[in-house]
Amino acid sequence: MRIGVDLGGTKIELLVLGAGGREVWRQRAPTPSGDYHGTIRQITALVNAAEAAVGQRCTVGIGIPGTISPATGLIKNSNSLCLIGNALDKDLAQALGREVRLANDADCFALSEAADGAGADAASVFGVILGTGVGGGLVYHKQIIQGANAIAGEWGHNPLPYPRVWTTPDGRSFDERPGPPCYCGRPGCIELYLSGPGMVRDHETMTGQSLTAADIVAAAASDPRAAATLDRYVDRLARALAIVINIFDPGTIVLGGGLSQVAALYDEVPKRWAKWIFSDAVVTKLLPPRFGDSSGVRGAAWLWPEDEATAVLSNPASAAARAGRAAT
Ligand SMILES: [Zn+2]
Repeated sequence: MRIGVDLGGTKIELLVLGAGGREVWRQRAPTPSGDYHGTIRQITALVNAAEAAVGQRCTVGIGIPGTISPATGLIKNSNSLCLIGNALDKDLAQALGREVRLANDADCFALSEAADGAGADAASVFGVILGTGVGGGLVYHKQIIQGANAIAGEWGHNPLPYPRVWTTPDGRSFDERPGPPCYCGRPGCIELYLSGPGMVRDHETMTGQSLTAADIVAAAASDPRAAATLDRYVDRLARALAIVINIFDPGTIVLGGGLSQVAALYDEVPKRWAKWIFSDAVVTKLLPPRFGDSSGVRGAAWLWPEDEATAVLSNPASAAARAGRAAT
């Protein structure tokens, strides 16, 4: 069986997948905030409990906010600051006595949906997170494309393409150039418009009204100001995804994160994206996730494909050799 661990800022979730991707066992524990060694201990305890519950040794994959820098072998780009600069994969391998595979959480989402989720029929999948932040992962033939700098698919800190000027009903205008400043040091990032907080800020800028993203979406059916905010969101998402299609040309794009629940996106965005895509016709599908919030932890388990997991678990000598390699 395969264990997936989703390491979040507030909770650690563990899932055991059985044959055919069946969910066998699941448990959550709080993340020891700001405590790197405590985090290793918590994950080790969860893995031990899972293996005791299912009665067998498992492979272990983990999804994290951030990624391993190919330049240093240490964690970078993480909003869980205590992970930065540590060799989490190697430290976990040592604690668990086996090779541990680690990937970015958006990559795990994309892998889960590509493996047996909404994108299972597509050779190439772009998995998108539209939540507190905006992330993404690229999967080709059910393998994560990591990239030379381990940032493949990270589209949220590119500038919003084809910037335009919007006018409010009361005559005020908003120019998307240069856009608000981003914590990454650059202005006008896609994340500033397409994250949940981005939608909230946009609505406030254009209407003076302070509403949550969920309230804006709910009000769009009856309130023209909320409908206009949702319309700007659709327009921006179409422009931003068009650029990804022009470069990676995925068969399927799967949306995840809180804003993936906005049903209108799946009809409206593909109606608009064609005018920015360099193709006579666009067959790329835009789909909601099959596994929703579970895709992160499922994708972590899928870091070990089923046949590879079976091979390594049925050959302890090879598993020990892998653990030895992983621990050095
Ligand atoms: Zn940015």
